Amino acid sequence: MKEQLRQIPPIHELQHTDRFERFTADQNLSFEKGTELVKESVSLIRKSIRENNWDGPQPGTVRFLEAIYTHAELLNKKKFSLSLHKVINASGTVLHTNLGRARLGPETIEHMSNVAGSYTNLEYEVEKGNRGSRHTHAEKFICELTGAEAAMVVNNNAAAVFLILSALAKNKEVIVSRGELVEIGGSFRVSSIMEESGAKLMEVGTTNKTHLHDFESHIGEDTAMIMKVHQSNFIIKGFTSSVESGDLVHLTRKYDHVVYYEDLGSGALYDFTKHGIGTEPLVRHVIEKGADLVSFSGDKLLGGPQAGIIAGRKDVVNLLKKHQLARVLRVDKMTLAALEMTLLHYLKKEEHKIPAVNGIIRQKEEIMQQSMELMAQLKQRDVSYNVELVEGKSKVGGGTMPEVELDTYLISIRHSQFSSHELHERLRMHEPSIIARIQQERLLIDLRTVSTGEQVEILQALDIISNGIKTDDQN
Ligand SMILES: *Cc1c(COP(=O)(O)O)cnc(C)c1O
Repeated sequence: MKEQLRQIPPIHELQHTDRFERFTADQNLSFEKGTELVKESVSLIRKSIRENNWDGPQPGTVRFLEAIYTHAELLNKKKFSLSLHKVINASGTVLHTNLGRARLGPETIEHMSNVAGSYTNLEYEVEKGNRGSRHTHAEKFICELTGAEAAMVVNNNAAAVFLILSALAKNKEVIVSRGELVEIGGSFRVSSIMEESGAKLMEVGTTNKTHLHDFESHIGEDTAMIMKVHQSNFIIKGFTSSVESGDLVHLTRKYDHVVYYEDLGSGALYDFTKHGIGTEPLVRHVIEKGADLVSFSGDKLLGGPQAGIIAGRKDVVNLLKKHQLARVLRVDKMTLAALEMTLLHYLKKEEHKIPAVNGIIRQKEEIMQQSMELMAQLKQRDVSYNVELVEGKSKVGGGTMPEVELDTYLISIRHSQFSSHELHERLRMHEPSIIARIQQERLLIDLRTVSTGEQVEILQALDIISNGIKTDDQN
């Protein structure tokens, strides 16, 4: 090992060679920058040799010198590599929060891209030639789809809750059923948001049962709001009862100074129950029942960009639009573009163009067909994989419809040399990363969330991994 280390040329010798000059020219680097990278490369190689895990060419050879530069090039490339990148979601969880929830459809992306590259009428009225409001853009579509009088869009649903409580209930009381004081994935706690907003939480009822009289007996002069929080990510089973939206609307109507607000969490605009999926109420139905205000996420069941949508009574929404926080929590033109195109798909009844909706309602037969194709192609290419088609379940994800299991087919993959964990690691480290599931020592691929183009990429990745070609050398 000492001999190997001795054979590594010193930096000052490397610096004055044609090879070094070619390296800096190719990489468009200054002499100093080039030196820095070569130094870093040599020091990493030294470390590998010392730790006995250098499997490159022997020091002293021409190939070793090449290895120094290849390494330095890689280091240079890494410095400019972006952090956010594409991931193939082969987990079958449609709204995977860690993988960025909803993906957007092609027409939505096109609209976003057009808007991003140009000046826009974001806050400009073209007809009158004067200043306009960014709140107008998605509002018309939201109202048409939900039946609400007015609407606005903020950064996400957590922001919507915060704005509503701050603007309408600061230093006043908000009555919430104890059974609905939940923590939602990504550390969203209704009670904490309420505290931050300055509203006073008035918990009523018990964890499993809350009755109408629990609300009624707590309404006083200081009450600003009755709030219902949709139980997105958990279910209380057994001896339970909660108060219906309709009854709470009825109660609130008796008091002029009290607003009835529902945090819907997901906010479905599409009726998934007609496919037998979940029991998510339609936003339209909650508005029809007479809720003064509702809020919901843009990137949960709706399948759009991250956003919080507020819809309801015009006078109440106008108060929110004028509040200072509306400026703090406002969204940009790209979010509005993505949201409005997603909403347009609903209006035109072309929900199949929304990948999240499509992913949730996909039939298992179609997934089976796609899986069989991939398996056949894989068998043709490589014999070191043992593949099998198994029945399984996919999830909606994003903290929505936790009890719902979507029937699916899974490709179970085993490799003759790698464990399922090693195989998964290699898939994750591939470009693009592929995220699957592991169950009982089997790697499971769920094509519910995989496009046909991505199916080809998975095939290529499996091929490369099995042939031992390093993914680093790709692209
Ligand atoms: C998800 C959720 C939120 C937070 O929404 P984000 O858009 O993720 O900020 C708030 N309330 C409920 C009931 C939710 O389910």
